[in-house]
Amino acid sequence: LPALFVTAIPVLKKLEQAGFEAYFVGGSIRDLLLQRDIHDIDIATSAYPEEVKQLFSKTIDTGIKHGTVTVLYDHGSYEITTFRTETGYQDFRRPDQVTFVRNLSEDLKRRDFTINALAMNTEGLIVDLFDGLGDLERHLIKAVGNPMQRFHEDALRMMRAVRLMSQLKFTLEDKTQAAIKDMHQLLPKISVERIRDEFVKMGLGANSRAAFQVFLDTQLSEGVPNFTGKSELLSVYPSLEFNPAEESSLWAVIIILLKLQNKEIAHFMHDWKNSNAMTAKVEKIVALFDLISERSPSNYDLFEAGKETLLKTIDVAHILGQPVNAEALVDRYLALPIKSLAELAVDGQFLIAAGVAPGPQLGQLLTTLKQKILAGELENTQEAISTYLAQG
Ligand code: ATP
Ligand code: MG
Repeated sequence: LPALFVTAIPVLKKLEQAGFEAYFVGGSIRDLLLQRDIHDIDIATSAYPEEVKQLFSKTIDTGIKHGTVTVLYDHGSYEITTFRTETGYQDFRRPDQVTFVRNLSEDLKRRDFTINALAMNTEGLIVDLFDGLGDLERHLIKAVGNPMQRFHEDALRMMRAVRLMSQLKFTLEDKTQAAIKDMHQLLPKISVERIRDEFVKMGLGANSRAAFQVFLDTQLSEGVPNFTGKSELLSVYPSLEFNPAEESSLWAVIIILLKLQNKEIAHFMHDWKNSNAMTAKVEKIVALFDLISERSPSNYDLFEAGKETLLKTIDVAHILGQPVNAEALVDRYLALPIKSLAELAVDGQFLIAAGVAPGPQLGQLLTTLKQKILAGELENTQEAISTYLAQG
């Protein structure tokens, strides 16, 4: 049993000794049985939040309204959530009301997919009310209960379905997929940030391209920013050779497939609520990709792009099947006489001491020196630069 579970067992035992039930639940059990890396564990209990707080001396009210208390115990911290049911869902995204309940089965019923509705006690006994174990073996993502109703309650689940499909290399059970197709119009009820997080996980999952095909087939893609009416351009994605390795390459690939230019790129990134930092990274990748597709980039282009952007652009070209001599480009980058302005043999102070007047022309001169050095027309030494200055 992975350490994350082992260290939590005393916490569950303490709940049990006080007369409550306590289980590991949700994605952590799924990942345990699939022998995937466990990054977090969820604990569910019949104890009400107030009862959890009485039992442990150090607790934090993480999401107490929804029944979640964080317990600090023996150097670890554990999120413990009271068994609950959810009712309402008037807005297609969050329950109007959560009700704490004493039995596990009610709690498992509200979970999205059968493989996510498994629980395990401290003895290792698995509770499986919906044949989640069978679906784990069959590699199926299947909604718990009536899929239409479940997606109507919470439209984010449709994105979770394709995301899990990608991450786990599973397929969607037929009725679950049909229900997504029927309910896809509800997706825009969900906030873009939450859709984006699932979309990125889908794009970076092991089965990204197959999941993307389902994302298109079910028309979920019609309900996300800037994808409406673009299914033809996007239909290239499932036939790409490789998956993007990280988030900025994923966005760059999509932007290139959508043939977005200049300002459109920033708007696209902004509509998806991406950070300015992510947007800047993606813009640099797309710009270098365009350059590389047209001609061989100059030393100046490589300098301006920087190593990180260069490597990611090579990755993006690789994904898109754009021929590029990666080795030669990296060798050329590594052979640049300077890789940052700090590596210039002179600085502003040196130039002033050499008689250049302070002001905007100083900055211009530094840029000229940088360009000449990168072009191989000037050596990056104080002597060579002084000689150049003396020639006026
Ligand atoms: P991850 O590997 O990303 O953590 P996960 O399935 O554990 O995947 P979480 O968001 O951590 O996802 O949720 C934990 C558990 O809570 C899920 O396994 C599932 O049982 C339940 N759950 C999460 N989101 C929903 C939802 N929108 N509807 C129903 N149940 C959900
Ligand atoms: Mg989880």
